[in-house]
Amino acid sequence: MDAKEACGVFGVFAPGRPVAHLTFDGLYALQHRGQESAGMAVSDGDLITVMKDMGLVTTVFDERKLSGLRGHLAIGHTRYSTAGSSDWINAQPVFRGVGRAGFGLAHNGNLTNTDELAGLANMLPGLVSSDSDLVAELLGQAFPIDDPERTRAQHAGDLEQALMDVLPKVEGAFSFVLMDADRIIGIRDPNGFRPLCLGRLEATDEFEQGWVLASESPALDVIGATFIRELEPGEMVIIDGKEIRSERPFPDERLDPRLCIFEFVYFARPDTTLYGNEVHGARRRMGQLLATQRPVAGDLVMGVPESGVPAAEGYALGSGIPYGQGLVKNRYIGRTFIAPTQAERANGVRRKLNPLRENIAGKRVIVVDDSIVRGTTTRAMVKMLREAGALEVHLRISSPPFQWPCYYGIDTPDRTELLAAIKTLDEIVEYLNVDSLEYLSLEHLVEAIQAPGAGFCDACLTGNYPVPVQVKVAITERPSVAASAGSAPA
Ligand code: SF4
Repeated sequence: MDAKEACGVFGVFAPGRPVAHLTFDGLYALQHRGQESAGMAVSDGDLITVMKDMGLVTTVFDERKLSGLRGHLAIGHTRYSTAGSSDWINAQPVFRGVGRAGFGLAHNGNLTNTDELAGLANMLPGLVSSDSDLVAELLGQAFPIDDPERTRAQHAGDLEQALMDVLPKVEGAFSFVLMDADRIIGIRDPNGFRPLCLGRLEATDEFEQGWVLASESPALDVIGATFIRELEPGEMVIIDGKEIRSERPFPDERLDPRLCIFEFVYFARPDTTLYGNEVHGARRRMGQLLATQRPVAGDLVMGVPESGVPAAEGYALGSGIPYGQGLVKNRYIGRTFIAPTQAERANGVRRKLNPLRENIAGKRVIVVDDSIVRGTTTRAMVKMLREAGALEVHLRISSPPFQWPCYYGIDTPDRTELLAAIKTLDEIVEYLNVDSLEYLSLEHLVEAIQAPGAGFCDACLTGNYPVPVQVKVAITERPSVAASAGSAPA
């Protein structure tokens, strides 16, 4: 997929333990959610220290820096920009000092009413550097009028109270992790667009019990925390001691669970638990169901590394056609390849993938990928397979056609660049130069996730946006949307 994820968030409350090192490990496990900048804020109960910079987690932090970050609680962030430019100024956590208090904020998501919020904060929309900064500004303004006599202890409930005031005004997608000197707080928006889970560090002879918040459960595993549960949409969890408290800052009528369905298809790690299920199993089932939709004769089922691989394994299982590796990924290139033009994106495929010619030559290959956004990289990949000697290339996509931009925290191109929005299925087959093409149906996608009754956002597939957004309708005529095309003798 050539859309970018948008941020991983992490928080830990663990007196006595090396919280900066734990945050580093947690962020490293969430690196796939954002590779532009990384940062953390650590509190020792007196002083909050923020360290952030552009680059990967391992670029921003080293042992020397981590050992200087001492405290009993911390929050962290990895960023890919969706709102706000890719600059140091927008790296997170965002910090605000208010009187003798201060707080840090880390955000995964994208707000949809920033102009309105900028008005409330008396900021000109053009001066807002990011939607996360805007929320921090509103929270700072909601703190009690600064009184120099007010002690730190008297500030204790200020952040929580400011959140109760400000959160009901905020719309869009947001999983927040915040901290002040003495507590960490986790929040999921009323739709739960982005994931956020809670874990526990068990008490030992050496340490008392601690708590962890993370975008995805592998960030708990990596520091030895036990997964407790996913936060509920609209829930705010406050952690300032051995016990945790849960609050509901949003009115009931706004609660409407809509976890991003693409977390299952692509964004989340395969070992992440969402809606009670491991993502890898869901991806395999997507492939199995895809195999039943429009069978095709083939010699080899292969996945596009790495996110297409579990669905390809499932496809092989469902079709009875052998699974094999057809492409090798340069494991050092990272998950995204940042290239500003279509031509550079296409060239980027060669840096990222290389064909296994002996496995492909003379074969009818069934290639399984998770999605097609612009189609540029898919087209280059198909060309590569044909040059490597593939007799036929049948493309199978483990999600429905991606036709609408995301406004909830994923960086997708404008609608005029989305392949499935600007071409019919037959035109896509011709453009990609494949022998046949089949997309997984939305019904099968939901079935594969195996979370009966759960709510999803599927706006990029259906155009049904659960929270109103300003959609620029650049395309007046929609192409006919079928789920398959091309000549594919069964
Ligand atoms: S529009 Fe698509 S990518 Fe964005 S939150 Fe909804 S399902 Fe996820």
